[in-house]
Amino acid sequence: MTADVFSDALKRLDAAAEFVDVHPETVLRLRQPRLMTEFAIPVRMDDGSLRVFTGFRCRYDDTRGPAKGGIRFHQDVCASEVKALAFWMTFKCSVVGIPFGGGKGGVIVDPKQLSTAELERLSRGYMRAAARFVGVDTDVPAPDVNTTPLIMAWMSDEFATILGERQPGVITGKPVAVGGSVGRDDATARGGWYCLQELQRKLSWLPKAQGRTCAVQGFGNAGEFFSRFAAQEGYKVVAISDSRGGVFNPGGLDVEAQIRTKAQTKRVDAKAPGCRPITNEELLELDVDLLVPAAIENVITAGNASRVRAKAVLELANGPITSDADPVLSSRRIVVVPDVLANAGGVTVSYFEWTQNKSGFYWTREEVHQRLQQIMAREFGAVYDLAQQKKIDMRTAAYAHALRRLGAALESTGTARNFAKGG
Ligand code: GLU
Repeated sequence: MTADVFSDALKRLDAAAEFVDVHPETVLRLRQPRLMTEFAIPVRMDDGSLRVFTGFRCRYDDTRGPAKGGIRFHQDVCASEVKALAFWMTFKCSVVGIPFGGGKGGVIVDPKQLSTAELERLSRGYMRAAARFVGVDTDVPAPDVNTTPLIMAWMSDEFATILGERQPGVITGKPVAVGGSVGRDDATARGGWYCLQELQRKLSWLPKAQGRTCAVQGFGNAGEFFSRFAAQEGYKVVAISDSRGGVFNPGGLDVEAQIRTKAQTKRVDAKAPGCRPITNEELLELDVDLLVPAAIENVITAGNASRVRAKAVLELANGPITSDADPVLSSRRIVVVPDVLANAGGVTVSYFEWTQNKSGFYWTREEVHQRLQQIMAREFGAVYDLAQQKKIDMRTAAYAHALRRLGAALESTGTARNFAKGG
C-alpha cells in the first residue's frame, strides 16, 4: 500500500471545497482524524508459538454521529490506509445522510494463512485491545475486506465478556442469529445495483435489449453479489476476478456456476466452457459498458486510466481510482459513480442494524430493501443533479454534497464567526 494513500484521499476534500459554501474551519478540521490508535495483538498459534500482530482503529470524525466503519484483515494494512478508509467512511455516511461519522480499523495479517481457531483468537484479541475505543454511541465497527459475520460475532461476544452485558449495537454485520439485520449480507452490492438502475435511466441504457456488458474485479462479498445482480439485470458479465486472477468469456459467464466453484475451490473457474484466464490488469482495460472495481484501492491510476475502455465505472471497492486518474477518465467522458456513493449500501444497512439493535425491534427483508432503495435513489439523484449543475464529475459532486452536511454539523459547534465583531 502506498504510504500516501491518505494524502491522496485529502485531495478530494480540497477539490470539493471549491464548490460548496463551507467555513474554512470545516475543511481544516476534516484534514486529520480525531483519534488514531495502534496496538499489539498477541496471539497464541496452534503450534504453541506466539505471534504479535499490529492492529489499528481510527475515529476520523464523529460530529454527525458515532464513528462507523469496518475492520480489515489484510497483509497490506498500514496506518495511512486506515486513516484514508476512515476519511472515506466520514464522507460516505454524510453522502447518504445517515447519522454516523467515519471510522475504520485493520490488522496487518494475511488471514488465509491462519487456521479458524487462530482467526478467532486474533479477532477476540483485536476487540480486547480496541474495546476502550469502540462503543454503541462512540465508534461502531463492521466487516470489511476479509472479515465476515462470524468474525463480527466473535468480536461482539468478546465485547460482551469485557462489559459484562450484551450490547449488540457495538458492531454491525453480525449473523442474523445474534442481532444482525436481514439484508446486510448483500447490502453493499445491492446499494451499487440501485445506483446502477438510476444511472441506466440517465444514460438510457437497456442492458438486455442493448446487449450491455460488464466486468467485475474482485469476487468477495461485494463483487460476488454484484455479479449476480448485474446478470439478473440483463448484463452480460464477461469477466470476473479475485486476488489470484480472473476469467473472461466474451459470450458472458455463467455467474451462478462461478459462485458455486468459488465456494468449493476458493477460486474462479477459468476452465469453464468458452472461458480463458485473464489478469486483473487486463480485466480493467476490457472493452465493456460497465466496469466494477470491487476489490482494493489504487487499481486505476494515471498509469492505466488512459487504457480504460468502459463507458461507466461503478466503484464498489473503497478508493479503487487514484486522484490523478480522475481527470483522465472525465476528459474521456467515462462516468464514474464514486465509492462514497456506490458502495454506501453496506453502511446504510449497518445503520439499519444499529437502529434495530437499539430499539430491539426487527425489520423484514422487504423493509430493509425498500428503505435502502429509497436512500440510494434519493442521494444518487442529489449527487447527479449537483454534478450537472456545477459541471463537475460525480465524485467531486458527492464530496461537495457530503461536505454541506458535514459543514452544517461542524459549524454548529462554533467557528471564528462567533468571534467576529457583530457576528
Ligand atoms: N466496510 C464497509 C464499507 O467500507 C461497511 C462499513 C460499515 O458497515 O460500517 O463501507
